[in-house]
Amino acid sequence: MPSPFRRQGCILLKVSENAGGRTRFFWQQVMSPGGNMPYAIEQLNGTGMESNAYLLLCERPVLVDVGTGATLERVERRLTAALDGKRLHALVLTHMHFDHTGGAAAIQEGTGAMAYAHPPDARALAEGDGDLTCSGWLGQRQRPLRITPLKDGEVIDCGNAGLEVLHTPGHTAGSICLLDRATGDLFSGDTVFTNGGVGRWDLPTGDRGRLLSSLRRLSGLKLRGIYPGHGPYYEDDGNSHVEMGLAMARDFM
Ligand SMILES: [Zn+2]
Ligand SMILES: [Zn+2]
Repeated sequence: MPSPFRRQGCILLKVSENAGGRTRFFWQQVMSPGGNMPYAIEQLNGTGMESNAYLLLCERPVLVDVGTGATLERVERRLTAALDGKRLHALVLTHMHFDHTGGAAAIQEGTGAMAYAHPPDARALAEGDGDLTCSGWLGQRQRPLRITPLKDGEVIDCGNAGLEVLHTPGHTAGSICLLDRATGDLFSGDTVFTNGGVGRWDLPTGDRGRLLSSLRRLSGLKLRGIYPGHGPYYEDDGNSHVEMGLAMARDFM
Protein backbone atom coordinates (compact mmCIF):
# COMPACT_ATOMS: atom_id res chain seq x y z
CA MET A 1 0.00 0.00 0.00
CA PRO A 2 1.87 3.14 -1.11
CA SER A 3 1.83 6.06 1.28
CA PRO A 4 -0.52 8.79 0.05
CA PHE A 5 1.80 11.31 1.65
CA ARG A 6 5.00 10.42 -0.16
CA ARG A 7 4.36 12.49 -3.24
CA GLN A 8 1.47 14.65 -2.20
CA GLY A 9 2.94 15.93 1.06
CA CYS A 10 3.73 19.56 1.49
CA ILE A 11 6.90 21.28 2.42
CA LEU A 12 6.96 24.60 4.14
CA LEU A 13 9.49 27.22 3.17
CA LYS A 14 10.53 29.54 5.95
CA VAL A 15 10.71 33.26 5.35
CA SER A 16 12.09 35.27 8.23
CA GLU A 17 11.68 38.95 8.87
CA ASN A 18 13.22 41.11 11.52
CA ALA A 19 10.39 42.99 13.19
CA GLY A 20 11.20 45.25 16.12
CA GLY A 21 14.40 43.37 16.97
CA ARG A 22 12.72 39.95 16.94
CA THR A 23 12.81 37.46 14.11
CA ARG A 24 9.37 36.43 13.01
CA PHE A 25 8.68 33.41 10.87
CA PHE A 26 6.28 33.12 8.01
CA TRP A 27 5.50 29.97 6.15
CA GLN A 28 4.65 29.30 2.60
CA GLN A 29 3.19 25.98 1.62
CA VAL A 30 4.38 24.29 -1.57
CA MET A 31 4.04 20.79 -2.95
CA SER A 32 6.68 18.26 -2.02
CA PRO A 33 8.97 17.16 -4.85
CA GLY A 34 8.73 13.55 -3.63
CA GLY A 35 12.23 12.42 -2.71
CA ASN A 36 14.42 9.36 -2.67
CA MET A 37 13.02 7.37 0.22
CA PRO A 38 14.58 3.94 0.71
CA TYR A 39 11.25 2.92 2.24
CA ALA A 40 7.67 4.12 2.56
CA ILE A 41 6.37 5.52 5.83
CA GLU A 42 2.78 4.79 6.80
CA GLN A 43 1.07 6.80 9.51
CA LEU A 44 -1.28 4.41 11.30
CA ASN A 45 -2.69 6.42 14.17
CA GLY A 46 -2.73 9.90 15.68
CA THR A 47 -6.26 11.08 16.37
CA GLY A 48 -7.46 12.55 19.66
CA MET A 49 -5.49 11.16 22.60
CA GLU A 50 -3.64 8.75 20.36
CA SER A 51 0.00 9.34 19.51
CA ASN A 52 1.10 9.07 15.92
CA ALA A 53 2.36 5.62 14.93
CA TYR A 54 4.75 5.33 12.01
CA LEU A 55 5.42 2.14 10.12
CA LEU A 56 8.69 2.15 8.18
CA LEU A 57 8.26 -0.31 5.36
CA CYS A 58 11.93 -1.27 5.10
CA GLU A 59 13.32 -4.72 4.33
CA ARG A 60 12.89 -5.29 8.07
CA PRO A 61 9.77 -3.25 8.92
CA VAL A 62 9.83 -1.16 12.08
CA LEU A 63 6.89 0.41 13.92
CA VAL A 64 7.59 3.61 15.89
CA ASP A 65 5.04 4.01 18.72
CA VAL A 66 1.57 2.47 18.78
CA GLY A 67 -1.00 4.63 20.59
CA THR A 68 -3.15 3.81 23.62
CA GLY A 69 -4.72 0.66 22.26
CA ALA A 70 -8.21 2.25 22.20
CA THR A 71 -8.05 2.17 18.39
CA LEU A 72 -6.13 -1.08 18.34
CA GLU A 73 -8.42 -2.83 15.90
CA ARG A 74 -7.95 -0.07 13.31
CA VAL A 75 -4.19 0.09 13.91
CA GLU A 76 -3.86 -3.69 13.55
CA ARG A 77 -5.95 -3.69 10.39
CA ARG A 78 -3.85 -0.95 8.82
CA LEU A 79 -0.64 -2.56 10.02
CA THR A 80 -1.57 -5.92 8.52
CA ALA A 81 -2.56 -4.33 5.21
CA ALA A 82 0.61 -2.23 5.00
CA LEU A 83 2.91 -5.12 5.93
CA ASP A 84 1.31 -7.19 3.17
CA GLY A 85 2.65 -10.49 4.49
CA LYS A 86 5.98 -9.15 5.77
CA ARG A 87 6.90 -9.74 9.39
CA LEU A 88 7.17 -6.76 11.75
CA HIS A 89 10.81 -6.72 12.84
CA ALA A 90 10.72 -4.23 15.72
CA LEU A 91 8.45 -2.01 17.75
CA VAL A 92 10.37 1.02 18.98
CA LEU A 93 8.81 3.21 21.66
CA THR A 94 10.02 6.81 21.80
CA HIS A 95 9.16 6.98 25.52
CA MET A 96 7.01 5.32 28.17
CA HIS A 97 3.79 7.39 28.05
CA PHE A 98 0.56 5.47 27.68
CA ASP A 99 -0.63 7.52 24.69
CA HIS A 100 2.31 5.98 22.76
CA THR A 101 2.59 2.57 24.40
CA GLY A 102 -0.81 1.40 25.72
CA GLY A 103 -1.37 -0.83 22.69
CA ALA A 104 2.20 -2.15 22.59
CA ALA A 105 1.64 -5.41 24.48
CA ALA A 106 -1.20 -6.40 22.14
CA ILE A 107 0.84 -5.54 19.03
CA GLN A 108 3.76 -7.52 20.43
CA GLU A 109 1.52 -10.53 21.05
CA GLY A 110 -0.02 -10.26 17.60
CA THR A 111 3.22 -9.85 15.66
CA GLY A 112 5.92 -11.41 17.85
CA ALA A 113 8.03 -8.28 17.28
CA MET A 114 10.70 -7.31 19.78
CA ALA A 115 9.88 -4.08 21.64
CA TYR A 116 12.58 -1.50 22.42
CA ALA A 117 12.84 1.60 24.62
CA HIS A 118 15.55 3.53 26.46
CA PRO A 119 16.07 3.04 30.20
CA PRO A 120 14.60 4.15 32.54
CA ASP A 121 11.43 4.32 30.43
CA ALA A 122 12.06 0.69 29.43
CA ARG A 123 11.96 -0.30 33.09
CA ALA A 124 8.61 1.47 33.66
CA LEU A 125 7.19 -0.32 30.62
CA ALA A 126 8.51 -3.71 31.73
CA GLU A 127 6.88 -3.18 35.13
CA GLY A 128 3.65 -1.68 33.77
CA ASP A 129 4.10 1.34 36.07
CA GLY A 130 0.80 3.24 36.01
CA ASP A 131 2.25 6.44 37.54
CA LEU A 132 5.32 6.84 35.33
CA THR A 133 3.52 5.85 32.13
CA CYS A 134 0.55 8.10 33.09
CA SER A 135 -1.91 5.29 32.32
CA GLY A 136 -3.46 5.81 35.76
CA TRP A 137 -4.55 9.34 34.77
CA LEU A 138 -6.76 7.83 32.13
CA GLY A 139 -8.10 5.11 34.37
CA GLN A 140 -6.25 2.56 32.23
CA ARG A 141 -3.83 -0.24 33.03
CA GLN A 142 -0.41 -0.31 31.40
CA ARG A 143 0.21 -3.93 30.50
CA PRO A 144 3.82 -4.99 31.25
CA LEU A 145 5.93 -5.41 28.12
CA ARG A 146 8.78 -7.71 27.19
CA ILE A 147 11.25 -5.01 26.31
CA THR A 148 14.87 -4.66 25.24
CA PRO A 149 16.73 -1.54 26.42
CA LEU A 150 18.36 0.74 23.84
CA LYS A 151 21.54 2.79 24.16
CA ASP A 152 22.30 6.23 22.79
CA GLY A 153 24.12 5.83 19.47
CA GLU A 154 22.82 2.31 18.86
CA VAL A 155 21.54 1.71 15.33
CA ILE A 156 18.39 -0.32 14.71
CA ASP A 157 19.01 -2.43 11.63
CA CYS A 158 16.08 -2.13 9.22
CA GLY A 159 17.84 -4.03 6.40
CA ASN A 160 18.09 -1.33 3.76
CA ALA A 161 18.14 1.47 6.35
CA GLY A 162 19.29 2.15 9.91
CA LEU A 163 17.72 4.18 12.68
CA GLU A 164 20.17 5.72 15.13
CA VAL A 165 18.96 6.12 18.71
CA LEU A 166 19.43 9.63 20.10
CA HIS A 167 18.79 9.85 23.83
CA THR A 168 16.91 13.15 24.23
CA PRO A 169 15.74 13.37 27.87
CA GLY A 170 13.54 16.17 29.14
CA HIS A 171 9.98 15.13 28.29
CA THR A 172 10.80 11.94 30.21
CA ALA A 173 14.17 10.68 31.43
CA GLY A 174 14.30 7.95 28.78
CA SER A 175 12.87 9.82 25.77
CA ILE A 176 14.55 9.10 22.46
CA CYS A 177 14.47 10.34 18.90
CA LEU A 178 15.32 8.09 15.97
CA LEU A 179 17.45 9.42 13.13
CA ASP A 180 17.98 7.94 9.71
CA ARG A 181 21.37 9.50 8.99
CA ALA A 182 21.25 8.51 5.32
CA THR A 183 18.08 10.49 4.64
CA GLY A 184 18.07 12.98 7.54
CA ASP A 185 14.59 11.89 8.63
CA LEU A 186 13.91 12.28 12.36
CA PHE A 187 11.23 10.52 14.42
CA SER A 188 11.05 12.95 17.30
CA GLY A 189 8.50 11.46 19.72
CA ASP A 190 7.30 14.05 22.24
CA THR A 191 10.66 15.84 22.41
CA VAL A 192 9.82 18.25 19.59
CA PHE A 193 6.71 18.71 17.45
CA THR A 194 6.30 20.61 14.21
CA ASN A 195 5.42 24.28 13.83
CA GLY A 196 6.98 25.34 17.14
CA GLY A 197 5.89 22.83 19.78
CA VAL A 198 7.92 20.91 22.36
CA GLY A 199 7.00 18.19 24.84
CA ARG A 200 5.83 18.91 28.37
CA TRP A 201 8.53 18.79 31.02
CA ASP A 202 6.21 18.77 34.07
CA LEU A 203 5.28 15.07 34.00
CA PRO A 204 7.12 12.43 36.10
CA THR A 205 10.88 12.35 35.29
CA GLY A 206 10.50 15.43 33.05
CA ASP A 207 13.18 18.13 33.30
CA ARG A 208 13.09 21.38 31.37
CA GLY A 209 16.87 21.96 31.52
CA ARG A 210 17.48 18.54 29.99
CA LEU A 211 14.77 19.18 27.39
CA LEU A 212 16.50 22.37 26.33
CA SER A 213 19.83 20.51 26.05
CA SER A 214 18.16 17.82 23.95
CA LEU A 215 16.62 20.42 21.64
CA ARG A 216 20.08 22.01 21.21
CA ARG A 217 21.47 18.60 20.29
CA LEU A 218 18.74 18.12 17.67
CA SER A 219 19.34 21.59 16.28
CA GLY A 220 22.91 20.53 15.40
CA LEU A 221 21.72 17.75 13.08
CA LYS A 222 21.27 17.96 9.35
CA LEU A 223 17.63 16.98 8.93
CA ARG A 224 15.19 16.40 6.11
CA GLY A 225 11.79 15.09 7.30
CA ILE A 226 10.41 15.34 10.81
CA TYR A 227 7.89 12.82 12.16
CA PRO A 228 6.70 13.83 15.65
CA GLY A 229 4.66 11.91 18.23
CA HIS A 230 1.66 14.22 17.78
CA GLY A 231 0.41 16.57 15.11
CA PRO A 232 1.42 16.86 11.48
CA TYR A 233 4.67 15.58 10.03
CA TYR A 234 6.66 17.11 7.21
CA GLU A 235 8.80 15.37 4.63
CA ASP A 236 11.19 18.29 4.43
CA ASP A 237 12.51 21.29 6.34
CA GLY A 238 12.99 19.35 9.60
CA ASN A 239 15.65 21.77 10.85
CA SER A 240 13.25 24.72 10.74
CA HIS A 241 10.74 22.85 12.87
CA VAL A 242 13.43 22.01 15.44
CA GLU A 243 14.59 25.65 15.44
CA MET A 244 11.02 26.85 16.02
CA GLY A 245 10.65 24.43 18.92
CA LEU A 246 13.98 25.55 20.38
CA ALA A 247 13.00 29.21 20.06
CA MET A 248 9.68 28.51 21.76
CA ALA A 249 11.37 26.57 24.56
CA ARG A 250 13.91 29.36 25.13
CA ASP A 251 11.10 31.90 25.43
CA PHE A 252 9.40 29.77 28.08
CA MET A 253 12.45 28.69 30.05
ZN1 LIG B 1 2.45 11.85 23.61
ZN1 LIG C 1 4.70 11.88 26.18
